[in-house]
Amino acid sequence: MGKPTGFKEFPRETVPYREPLLRINDYYEFLEEVPEQHLRTQGARCMDCGVPFCQSETGCPVDNLIPEWNDLVYRGRWREALDRLHKTNNFPEFTGRVCPAPCEGACVLGIIDPAVTIKNIENAIVDRGFEEGWIVPQPPEKRTGKKVAVIGSGPAGLAVAQQLNMAGHNITVYERDDRVGGLLMYGIPNMKLDKNTVDRRVDILRAEGVEFVTNAHVGVNVDIHELQENSDAIVLCCGATRPRDLPIPGRELSGVHFAMEFLLKNTKSLLDSNLQDGQYISAKDKDVIVIGGGDTGTDCIGTSVRHGCKSLINFELLSEPPAERADNNPWPQWPRIYRIDYGHAEVEAKFGKDPREFAILSKEFVDDGTGKVAGVKTVQVEWTNNNGKFEMTELPETEKLWTADLVLLAMGFLGPEDTLAEKLGLDCDPRSNFKADFGRHATNIDGVFAAGDCRRGQSLVVWAIKEGRLAARECDRYLMGSSRLT
Ligand SMILES: Cc1cc2nc3c(=O)[nH]c(=O)nc-3n(C[C@H](O)[C@H](O)[C@H](O)COP(=O)(O)OP(=O)(O)OC[C@H]3O[C@@H](n4cnc5c(N)ncnc54)[C@H](O)[C@@H]3O)c2cc1C
Ligand code: SF4
Repeated sequence: MGKPTGFKEFPRETVPYREPLLRINDYYEFLEEVPEQHLRTQGARCMDCGVPFCQSETGCPVDNLIPEWNDLVYRGRWREALDRLHKTNNFPEFTGRVCPAPCEGACVLGIIDPAVTIKNIENAIVDRGFEEGWIVPQPPEKRTGKKVAVIGSGPAGLAVAQQLNMAGHNITVYERDDRVGGLLMYGIPNMKLDKNTVDRRVDILRAEGVEFVTNAHVGVNVDIHELQENSDAIVLCCGATRPRDLPIPGRELSGVHFAMEFLLKNTKSLLDSNLQDGQYISAKDKDVIVIGGGDTGTDCIGTSVRHGCKSLINFELLSEPPAERADNNPWPQWPRIYRIDYGHAEVEAKFGKDPREFAILSKEFVDDGTGKVAGVKTVQVEWTNNNGKFEMTELPETEKLWTADLVLLAMGFLGPEDTLAEKLGLDCDPRSNFKADFGRHATNIDGVFAAGDCRRGQSLVVWAIKEGRLAARECDRYLMGSSRLT
């Protein structure tokens, strides 16, 4: 275990972010570098619990061997820590940067003291691995001659591809965007996950033998039936890309956009021309309202601030969460508490106030008289728990008009698009995701599997990796009769 008395001696210290007022001037990652001793001391806090909840279902979805690598980091044995980490997680440099860290919510130390900084340690192990040159392509020794088409190159598709390639199959990944990575590339902004970090891993997969075809929209400019004929199996990893809309009066006004349109164009323009081509929706000098919280909302906030917006407000329909865990949200569950994410801290630093307005319902987008949005009319709401069913009531005389000339809708996603389901005759579940059991991943069509957000609905990078690994194992079993993939 770490240091037996470490958790008593050392307080939790996370890796700090760069100063908000400095970092909003660029798109570089916001995590600062820390000396090695910082990480070893934090690793020393791990208690090596008999039952490590951090690495179980309630904690890390990919079952990372957390106490083992905490101890190895404490002892400075980084190479071995990296080997243990890669046993369960294909892409720790993604989760180490963007995972909300359910492991830390389930850390046993968290019952009496702040949890171990697991995510920071994970990130440091893999970054060290790249710096030292320990992470190199590992192509399979033998090929099976089987061909698998993977549709979608997000974390689920990349995990499927790497695992099946490792088993010796020939893998081609089809991606409709011009760059590989799914939401790792065009959803999560550069300041949270540098795109060189994504490309670096994709290059390793390429060198291992995975083929990537971009600008390949399967079902549109690539025939899905031809793919079926020419492949021994297909794995669908298309994500949950249908955004939830807000069909209130004025929705058609210009200046009202889905979050993903804003974020995708920004990253593409940043990578293509350092934002010189003007091919993005600018928030410069605008009064911006972001409707919806979560990671997508925060990323819209962080991007708008970097553009130089005039003001920023973030509407959240739910009430403000409590500062501490509520009685019905005990350890080791994910703590549903008030958090200050990077974008909130940046707005607070720039404008002197956290941007969030809780328990607020948007009723109408207001026209400036020329077809452009000029504001949003809202009303306050109250939430009551009626025998476990949450009910929302509008509060009288709380109507308000907020000025806005850019409104970004970040209210979640409603599952995958219909095209492939229709063309393949796929069954969908009641939430319109591709129907396939978790752990089996086989759809109703022989030889077609599904993994990630298109199967489970909008979720997390770490769950996409887990699903990709499981779907790869099942696909390998389908192709070969048995599988050694885990
Ligand atoms: C803005 C934003 C920020 C987020 N931030 C975080 C975060 O900080 N931490 C976290 O853990 N999770 C975050 N998430 C969620 C996380 O990104 C997703 O859960 C994860 O990327 C899902 O992986 P996936 O591989 O299933 O799908 P995706 O990453 O969505 O990838 C699907 C890919 O399939 C492609 N595709 C779809 N249809 C076709 C087709 N017919 N032909 C070819 N290609 C196709 C798409 O272009 C896309 O590239 C965020 C999500 C968003 C939208
Ligand atoms: S992947 Fe996420 S949950 Fe798992 S150890 Fe890393 S930060 Fe924790």
